[in-house]
Amino acid sequence: MSHKSQKVITRFAPSPTGDLHIGSLRSAFYAWLFARANKGKFILRIEDTDQTRYQEGSEAGIFDVLEWVGLDYDETYKQSERKDTHNKYAEQLVETGKAYRCYCTPERLKKLRQDLKDKKQVPKYDGTCRNLSKEEILKQATSFTKATADRQHDKNYVVRLKIPEAGETKVIDIIRGEIVVKNEELDDFIILKSDGFPTYHLAHIVDDHDSGVTHVIRAEEWLPSLPKHKLIYEALGWDLPKFAHLPMVLAKDKSKLSKRHGAVGVKEFKALGYLPDALLNYVLLLGWHPKKGSAQEIFTRDDMLKQFKLEDVQKSGAVFDYDKLDWMNQQYLKKMSADKLADIAWPFFKEATPPFNPPLAREEIEKAIELEKERITKLSELPEVLRFIFEEIDYDPNILIWQKSDKETSKNNLKWLQGVIGEIGEDKWHKDIIEKIIKQAIKVKQLGLGDTLWPLRTALAGQKNSPGPFEIAEVLGKEQTLKRLKKAVEKLT
Ligand code: GLU
Repeated sequence: MSHKSQKVITRFAPSPTGDLHIGSLRSAFYAWLFARANKGKFILRIEDTDQTRYQEGSEAGIFDVLEWVGLDYDETYKQSERKDTHNKYAEQLVETGKAYRCYCTPERLKKLRQDLKDKKQVPKYDGTCRNLSKEEILKQATSFTKATADRQHDKNYVVRLKIPEAGETKVIDIIRGEIVVKNEELDDFIILKSDGFPTYHLAHIVDDHDSGVTHVIRAEEWLPSLPKHKLIYEALGWDLPKFAHLPMVLAKDKSKLSKRHGAVGVKEFKALGYLPDALLNYVLLLGWHPKKGSAQEIFTRDDMLKQFKLEDVQKSGAVFDYDKLDWMNQQYLKKMSADKLADIAWPFFKEATPPFNPPLAREEIEKAIELEKERITKLSELPEVLRFIFEEIDYDPNILIWQKSDKETSKNNLKWLQGVIGEIGEDKWHKDIIEKIIKQAIKVKQLGLGDTLWPLRTALAGQKNSPGPFEIAEVLGKEQTLKRLKKAVEKLT
């Protein structure tokens, strides 16, 4: 597809109704990628016209997430600021006979819905107000009752689009091809509510049109509404943008990904210690894959911009695999320098529960992180796996005894190690040198490796599983290493 003739404009249009879902991050990311890859423009529009679902703090959360993952936008606005414009177009549609005012009360509509449901029919507006005479409209317009005003509505009507009675509506989606529905299956849906706010259907079309959006990239949940949207475009006499509806995000059991499967909010992933680049790399593959034959999984932003094509997005649901995300995060963690890692891991140490005792300083964690960097999958695991480095340790003395050894031998070897280590100069305090010296001494003394290195490691770590003894010793420093050996000997005495 060529976009040479027209500058590509995409947008991300989240509603501030809760924490941004991982699926929404994908919509944002694909729209951003497509715009950037085509040297186009990316717009952020906050769709806040549904007053009943508005959630305090959610809007700020959207900005925070986009900043955290580094998706920049060229323009941003709130949908509610454009209420008058939406109203103007709703009025225009009424005047041109493409839409009509509906005065049916909520009570009547509720009953209508129930009656149709009882008859096992699809709930649909029955068209009562579709062809009201001028006199009837005038009568309704002047009966703006107290009851209506009390509901804090500024209108006693809604505006519905007049769906053509016959024929069908066809519309093309880049990912799914042509979609066709019979018009008789469509409802005269509401485009302007009685509170004076437009519905999503009208508002997003007016905004997309006025912003010059060329490609609407969004979640599959909007696909069933697409024919309705086409009818609004037609009623307003506007050209349609191109559409791409992204596949659903599913859990492994193929149901819609939700809280019961694990984290779903981008904020949660951040709090768990996923790196933004790793998360985006994972999200990239949530519905899109490089050309057949390529097994590439790690993508730089440059790779993404070069390779991503909307046409290659899959139609079927994309399964969210938490293990795969962990693996991806690990790849990014491994590549990161200890210094950078310490910077982003520091908040996790500062906020650890229980707090570190004695309190830690940022400089202390850098070396320690090297110990576990290759082992963890996310930053939130670091404080706990490294607590043994910074705090006094206590443990069951039995862990000091290697399986093929006994208490006496372990104690003697630990005592002997105290001497060997005591001789190592501070200037030689590096894991490779410590290892060389100790192993050489073991050889000369003709001791067993298991018999010596196991008690050494467990004495320093206070736990059965841990990084190697020499790496731990280097991080602990000579003084702390000797202190822990002394404690271990005492425990075996
Ligand atoms: N506000 C809608 C949502 O959050 C946007 C849908 C669209 O992108 O058109 O789902």
